[in-house]
Amino acid sequence: MRIGHGFDVHAFCEGSAIVLCGVEIPHSKGFKAHSDGDVALHALCDAVLGAAALGDIGKHFPDTDPQYAGIDSKILLRHVVELVAGKQLYCHNIDITIVAEQPKMQPHIETMCDCIAQVVGIDRDDVNVKATTSEKLGFTGREEGIAAYAVVLLEKK
Ligand code: MG
Repeated sequence: MRIGHGFDVHAFCEGSAIVLCGVEIPHSKGFKAHSDGDVALHALCDAVLGAAALGDIGKHFPDTDPQYAGIDSKILLRHVVELVAGKQLYCHNIDITIVAEQPKMQPHIETMCDCIAQVVGIDRDDVNVKATTSEKLGFTGREEGIAAYAVVLLEKK
């Protein structure tokens, strides 16, 4: 068993929707990002790469590379899962925490978990997504952006 941790932040910009855990959520803002800005999947990619000692998302998908402009982060996650499979490492379970004042995540949590389970190729029961506010404190509290943490356990097979 190998444990990995990931963290990511994206700032808001003008827009009408954000993507979190592969799910598009209507919002009064968008994400400022080179990719689709899916902060939760970026944290998850970093957790998976970290557990496998394969560096980080910036090393594998540089934000200076035009081929990743606006890319669906599910594609990045799929690629990361394939990379660690090359080391005979497979996701055992995933736990994600999203920190945001708005929008409310609860209506989307099930869809998020289903989406991650499908992309990673594990059971729905091995994925957990939760959300919290930061009690109006800090950049998340001021609704300047969203942060996400991910923890993953990889199993060697
Ligand atoms: Mg990111």
